[in-house]
Amino acid sequence: MTKRAYNFNAGPAALPLEVLQQAQEQFVDYMGAGMSIMEMSHRSKVFEGVNDEADALLRELLQIPDDYSVMLLQGGASTQFAMVPMNLLASGQTAAYVNSGSWAKKAIKEAKLIGETRVVASAEESRFTAMPDLSALELSENTAYLHVTSNETIEGTQLAAFPNTGAIPLVADMSSDIMSRPLDVKQFGLIYAGAQKNLGPSGATVVIARNDLIAASPAGIPTMLRYDTHAKSKSLYNTPPSFAVYMVGLVLKWIKGKGGLAAVEQLNRDKTGLIYGAIDGSSGFYRGVAEAGSRSLMNVTFRLPSEELEKLFVKQSEEQGFVGLKGHRDVGGLRASTYNAVPLESCRALAEFMKEFQRING
Ligand SMILES: *Cc1c(COP(=O)(O)O)cnc(C)c1O
Repeated sequence: MTKRAYNFNAGPAALPLEVLQQAQEQFVDYMGAGMSIMEMSHRSKVFEGVNDEADALLRELLQIPDDYSVMLLQGGASTQFAMVPMNLLASGQTAAYVNSGSWAKKAIKEAKLIGETRVVASAEESRFTAMPDLSALELSENTAYLHVTSNETIEGTQLAAFPNTGAIPLVADMSSDIMSRPLDVKQFGLIYAGAQKNLGPSGATVVIARNDLIAASPAGIPTMLRYDTHAKSKSLYNTPPSFAVYMVGLVLKWIKGKGGLAAVEQLNRDKTGLIYGAIDGSSGFYRGVAEAGSRSLMNVTFRLPSEELEKLFVKQSEEQGFVGLKGHRDVGGLRASTYNAVPLESCRALAEFMKEFQRING
């Protein structure tokens, strides 16, 4: 048996052991091709099959309607911060953004470089410990789109529901919670996500976009930064991140094998339930950062009574095989990232460790 860490890394993050083992089996000789996926032409029939399968599984698992394109791009979610306004924000229009935390702020910064950008809701007042209330948003008619971050990976807050924006397209950065729960794609104009949290290794970025929106991109955008370039060529306009695409396909197959998104959501609720349970049952020794209605199913953020104890917690957890529990350097504290591939067993072990740590230091 391979020794596996209790991996709570925020991204790149845990991958399912079964997926890694399958990739290992196929690493040197992919299905009798006499070469690795990494060594074959992206124009070959074999790779085309790999690419088509990843596309088909995304469509099947998310029930993506036919009038949406699915793209597997490079450049990470951070490139999407710019590509979204470049393609969807025409002159004379305003892009509306929800400032929910660290990642939203980065998206807003890029949009401001491209065009007229307005923050229509902010979590600043709660110091980003809760998602802003989006039930009564007022969006002017010339709003090109509303951008939300479904899960703030650093603060550990998550939108419980998405706003109804009517005719105004809803755009979502789902980098840290895509495929963690069922989703009604029809609610969205565009969804994007870097793969390295819930979908596979770094190097691939998923974009799901309504065709009429990307068909209306302004002229003058460089070819590689246009969605229609990639949509028309099924993500094969230039050399794709072929190994990452292959890995995404394996992860999607694994999700399907788990019973799909509803089953995965239940598992994620069970997993985080163990850790939030340890926080809530600690009589205040552990303090959850996110407010009740905004708690993330993917990133559990919490504090201890002092920074000294937080340091000790990280140190002792590492000695016991836990990895990645230190909070993001911008916010401090602790964070357990419990993406799809993190096993229930790791969460149970963490909850036990937390109780034992409190017994000794509380
Ligand atoms: C990690 C993350 C990003 C950045 O992704 P890159 O692929 O590194 O550019 C953006 N948004 C959210 C919500 C993230 O969690």
